[in-house]
Amino acid sequence: MNISRLCELLVVLILVLPGPAACADSICFGTPRKGRIAGAAQLPDHGINYVTYSSLGVTLGRTYVHSRVRDAMLASYSALVKIAPDKIYVYGETGWQSGGKFKPHRTHQNGLSVDFFVPVTDVKGRSVALPTNPLNKFGYAIEFDANGQYQSYSIDFEALGEHLYQLSIATKKAGSPISRVIFDPPYLPRLFATKHGAYLQSNVFFMQSKAWVRHDEHYHVDFSVPCSSDQSR
Ligand SMILES: [Zn+2]
Repeated sequence: MNISRLCELLVVLILVLPGPAACADSICFGTPRKGRIAGAAQLPDHGINYVTYSSLGVTLGRTYVHSRVRDAMLASYSALVKIAPDKIYVYGETGWQSGGKFKPHRTHQNGLSVDFFVPVTDVKGRSVALPTNPLNKFGYAIEFDANGQYQSYSIDFEALGEHLYQLSIATKKAGSPISRVIFDPPYLPRLFATKHGAYLQSNVFFMQSKAWVRHDEHYHVDFSVPCSSDQSR
């Protein structure tokens, strides 16, 4: 039984049995660049307003995160159901159950990195999930142009700004605040022009330099949780 299933079972037991019970936090080690994690939590493959980038990725075990990150992610999606009920979100790769090297990513090693695919609208302006499949390397091979267009899809900057705002609020509350966002710098003025742009500019650190790959179809988020420096396995 994996940790998330065990946690679900514990939650059920808490509801039906008297007495204290709690799920332990995950324990991260090292850094997103060189680290590992114990007791990581697997993200649900979908919810009311979100879906994983790949059921194969889930099956292969590529969607584990620190429990605090999972809790905050799910809280942010719940908040979005109320605030932006017609928006659909897609999360991407996160990391292995035990962390460590996670090719082709350069970080994602200790449960504190998550990729999110950009929310998009179709030609009719409806929020739809970005099509992520093996033909486009599960979404990572998609290239948006300078105007935020890819085929008939447009980046929904308002939905993206709302997501990062809710994620920032939820992660601060969960004790796992956002430490860094990587998103294609030429898009940042459009993100900062949205409803929560001013908040994001002053509360969230966006990497301004060029990343090793262009982050146009997804935004990478690192979270800050105190980790052990012990690297030994
Ligand atoms: Zn990433």
